[in-house]
Amino acid sequence: MLEDVLRQIEQRERFVLTSHARPDGDAIGSALACCQVLRSMGKQADVVLHDGVPRIYRALPFADQVVQASVVNGPYEAAIILECDSIHRTRLQGLEDRFLISIDHHVSGRPFAHVNWIDPHAVATAEMVFRLAREAGVKFSPDIATCLYTALMTDTGSFMFQGTNENTFALARELVLAGADPAHCARGIYFAHSEAKIRLLGEALRNLSIEGHLGWIWVTQKQMEQCGARDEDCEGLVNYVLSVGGVEVAAFFREMPEGRVRVSLRSKGKLNVAHVAESFGGGGHECASGCSVGGPLAEAVRQVLSQLRGGPSVQ
Ligand code: 5GP
Ligand code: MN
Repeated sequence: MLEDVLRQIEQRERFVLTSHARPDGDAIGSALACCQVLRSMGKQADVVLHDGVPRIYRALPFADQVVQASVVNGPYEAAIILECDSIHRTRLQGLEDRFLISIDHHVSGRPFAHVNWIDPHAVATAEMVFRLAREAGVKFSPDIATCLYTALMTDTGSFMFQGTNENTFALARELVLAGADPAHCARGIYFAHSEAKIRLLGEALRNLSIEGHLGWIWVTQKQMEQCGARDEDCEGLVNYVLSVGGVEVAAFFREMPEGRVRVSLRSKGKLNVAHVAESFGGGGHECASGCSVGGPLAEAVRQVLSQLRGGPSVQ
């Protein structure tokens, strides 16, 4: 599939790159790096994201060149959609009639594009962008390495999530040799939170519930407003629940302004939370998934917990 992707790229000149709405580190880092890889190949490339770049990723190389828009205009010959399992999840208009290339590592990845390179064995989409660049003979600049390293670091939970193996460290080594600075990358992400996020974390932890192997927290729209928090400040809060010993599956519920509820699910490995998210129309990985459920909040919590309790028993 990699050869196919490369062949399609070689045949074209102008590309738009994008990823899912509410982008995470892998979405941002992979898109920024892939854009530079294409430019190094002599192509014209732009990154367009519906939600722009979250604050903690704005110091990444080329992040300031990302276009925030809800419509893709322009004479692009192909769109490369990274880390995303549908046109719908990009929340961008104007992709429908274009030639589409999908590069994704989700188990729930669907072949929605004209060329679909889906590799659930890759620990991050960044790993696939790395392979693409290497196959294309592109030199890894320190800037490209920094974007890919940040994507790898965030998507593996700082090299702690399941799936992290010797290949992950071999890749990290390559990226560090190419000029990524691990301490600098970590500082930019883990020691760069907004005050609002930490206040929101306080609110969320006040609501912590634990029931056997299940743990969950939630935040209301009112709490978001009181803390001055934004959507992106919710990223990672669910991990605090998973950090409790004995909790095997953690859930985070966020009441959205329009009444629906965003759900983040995490597992230590005994329960496949991708299945649960998929049963609500979402997706993701076995150990990290998400979905959106109808409100009100209490009803969404009830429905998702009932699915989680009904999952294969966690010993
Ligand atoms: P998060 O909880 O951090 O938003 O997402 C965890 C994982 O699940 C990520 O890999 C993300 O791409 C995926 N994910 C989250 N929400 C959705 C969704 O609504 N649909 C799909 N297909 N995947 C999702
Ligand atoms: Mn990813």
